[in-house]
Amino acid sequence: GCTAERVAEALRAVARVVAEHREELVRLDREIGDGDHGENLNRGFTALVSKLDGDVPGTPGAVLKSAATTLISVVGGAAGPLYGTAFLRAATSVGDAAELDAGAVAGALRAALEGVVARGKAAVGDKTMVDALTPAVAAASSVAATGGDVAGVLAAAAEAAEQGAESTVPLVARKGRASYLGERSAGHLDPGARSTALLLRTLAGSAR
Ligand code: ADP
Ligand code: MG
Ligand code: MG
Repeated sequence: GCTAERVAEALRAVARVVAEHREELVRLDREIGDGDHGENLNRGFTALVSKLDGDVPGTPGAVLKSAATTLISVVGGAAGPLYGTAFLRAATSVGDAAELDAGAVAGALRAALEGVVARGKAAVGDKTMVDALTPAVAAASSVAATGGDVAGVLAAAAEAAEQGAESTVPLVARKGRASYLGERSAGHLDPGARSTALLLRTLAGSAR
């Protein structure tokens, strides 16, 4: 099972990966947005690591909730409230369990997606993080339902998220800043879909 300490370690790994990919995410957002996505996320996850260095909450849910409040208050832009809501819903979904099994992880991913959709009203095909997260949730659920473990659930989610992110390239954006470009948004990878795929790939790596 996945303890609070493991979740905190995974989020520290996410912070490292976001820092490594800061410029890539900035470049993607410069093409179809305002160029701040990498900075926004790096600021948020850096703040989260500082908070976790002070104290790791006692349950996975409490760690996820701490991540949510930090991301909501520090990231800003569109992605801050969206990622914040995702982590908040994930936290609520896992409740006060001491360890997360594969079903709990898949359920948390589904709750996260529902939170993003409730907040941002994007559907698959709108060229947002929803295009990465939706197939990830489907893949995670099917692996969990067929007896996969946490690592298997997250590996399937990461693979599906990467394909989902790539699928945003030809799309015309219908939500967020990129939608202001209309047809000119086509031909570019959505930065939020890319960051979602990076996040899930990193979670999968830390669950192995
Ligand atoms: P901002 O656009 O405010 O500068 P960011 O650059 O941090 O915020 O994040 C942009 C990303 O947020 C987009 O690439 C997209 O994936 C995501 N996004 C924007 N609006 C929505 C929405 N309504 N629903 C889901 N995701 C969205
Ligand atoms: Mg931006
Ligand atoms: Mg911005």
